[in-house]
Amino acid sequence: MEKRYDVIVVGAGNGGLAAAANTAKEGLKTLLLEKHNIPGGCATSFKRGRFEFEPSLHELCSVGTAEKPDKVYQLFEDLGAKPEWCYETGHLLRAIVKGENGYDVRLSAGIEGFCDSMEAAVPGCREAVKAFIMLKPKLDAATDYIYATKGNPNGLVMLLKHTDFMRTAGHSVEEVMTALGIPEKAQNIMNTYWGYLGVPTDELNAMHYINMLYGYMVDGAAMPKHRSHELSLSLIDVIQKHGGEVWYNSEVTQFLYNEDGSVAGVVANGEKLYAREVISNVIPNNVFNMSPQEVIPEQNLKLANAREFGISVATIYLGLDCTREELGLDDYTVFIMGNEDPRTQYNTRADDGLYIVNCLNNVIPDSSPEGTCTMFFTMPIFGDDVPKDLKPEEYKKYKNDLAKKYIEDAEKTLGISIMPHIEEISVATPVTFARYLGTPEGTIYGYKLSGWDNLMARIAGEKTDYAIPGLSFCGGHYTRGDGYSSAYIIGDTIGKRVAKRLKGDA
Ligand SMILES: Cc1cc2nc3c(=O)[nH]c(=O)nc-3n(C[C@H](O)[C@H](O)[C@H](O)COP(=O)(O)OP(=O)(O)OC[C@H]3O[C@@H](n4cnc5c(N)ncnc54)[C@H](O)[C@@H]3O)c2cc1C
Repeated sequence: MEKRYDVIVVGAGNGGLAAAANTAKEGLKTLLLEKHNIPGGCATSFKRGRFEFEPSLHELCSVGTAEKPDKVYQLFEDLGAKPEWCYETGHLLRAIVKGENGYDVRLSAGIEGFCDSMEAAVPGCREAVKAFIMLKPKLDAATDYIYATKGNPNGLVMLLKHTDFMRTAGHSVEEVMTALGIPEKAQNIMNTYWGYLGVPTDELNAMHYINMLYGYMVDGAAMPKHRSHELSLSLIDVIQKHGGEVWYNSEVTQFLYNEDGSVAGVVANGEKLYAREVISNVIPNNVFNMSPQEVIPEQNLKLANAREFGISVATIYLGLDCTREELGLDDYTVFIMGNEDPRTQYNTRADDGLYIVNCLNNVIPDSSPEGTCTMFFTMPIFGDDVPKDLKPEEYKKYKNDLAKKYIEDAEKTLGISIMPHIEEISVATPVTFARYLGTPEGTIYGYKLSGWDNLMARIAGEKTDYAIPGLSFCGGHYTRGDGYSSAYIIGDTIGKRVAKRLKGDA
């Protein structure tokens, strides 16, 4: 007998989980299909020896607390999911630029604390830095209005009521910072976070960056107590509690369409599964490759083909046989850069441009067994930066060389001894992420958010960009771009939107 659902969600990454939790909670017959044997996509964990590693999350923004919830905290609350949140109470970040023009700066959380630490690093910059940060509430008001009009805002309202948004939205981070009079050194320090969005700040849309910076600054960085796997499991609980089905080891290999071009369902494990609506957490390029080409509107194919894939990362996970106090690492997040300029960091990315060092024990002391600690190194690189056609033994050597180079550099830069303490080591590259997530070129950030494909253009084009009836998208590749919070929020929005439509009150 044919299996029929109200909603099929393809992919149990953050976006898919939030979407499915919403449709199940709304009483819709929901099926979530995931190719792996565990949920979460990037949001998971893995074990080596006696260590359970966080594979992706450095810090989650826009979470907030029980007393002062922000969007992500509220989203989990509203769904009835109860992860245990931990917060980084020390500095927001430490930024080290090596070499002659170098600096070693720690930035504090909170708007005033952040401005104070910027003033200490670059005297005289405080006022301009604060003006940049305070654009955020104005940009929020404008985007809320645009969302409320379903991407069809009144031009006059935008010009008269959302003037700062109109001035800012089309510009890069550095253009807006320069216009506000932020000195170059202060810009470079403030722009340390570019790696989290994968686009250098002379190209990255100002609005997008302000959103993220403000989220970290105001709420501080949050982490789930039991790795990001805990977040994924808490949403699986919601789906199942409301009668939703979750099928693991169920890779979708085909999308099915009705004669009128609307989506009919999918094929997983060789079985045809039908639904009134399908939500894809899988990037459009892959969905179109799993669909008969004649049903995909030409404009949709052109759009998918014109978009640039976002950056990926190489990562090194270390389990050490000493505590973080013995190691001598007091900061949770350290950015280490070969040059002060984000564009140069981006251009030299595969060669010491920028890397991030995290020690989770600084936020969650018991996140590894007693007497140990873990370290997590991340270098933003593209899939294309990995040498081509490596034989298995050459790939192993590539990973070992990469690990050795960055561990030695961190030892020298931070003045700590890491090598003799390594008990477990694991190295991932864009190849790992391509295999694990199924993304083209191993992108972990969907499409590159820049140029004509920036955040503003995506929000404005949401209604028309992908117009296949019954098929919605959610995840890092969709309108809000990458990152945990963006993926949860867009999954939540799409799940609610589909539920409303199917229940007839759209
Ligand atoms: C190393 C690393 C560090 C990161 N650091 C941060 C950070 O500090 N802060 C932050 O906010 N973000 C960070 N991110 C980014 C963040 O993890 C992602 O942007 C976000 O998790 C993407 O969620 P998504 O909804 O797009 O789903 P994805 O994580 O891309 O998951 C998609 C899911 O779909 C499944 N799937 C794919 N194809 C199929 C198919 N055909 N059938 C069935 N299932 C399928 C996959 O198995 C996967 O489970 C990091 C990512 C990585 C890898």
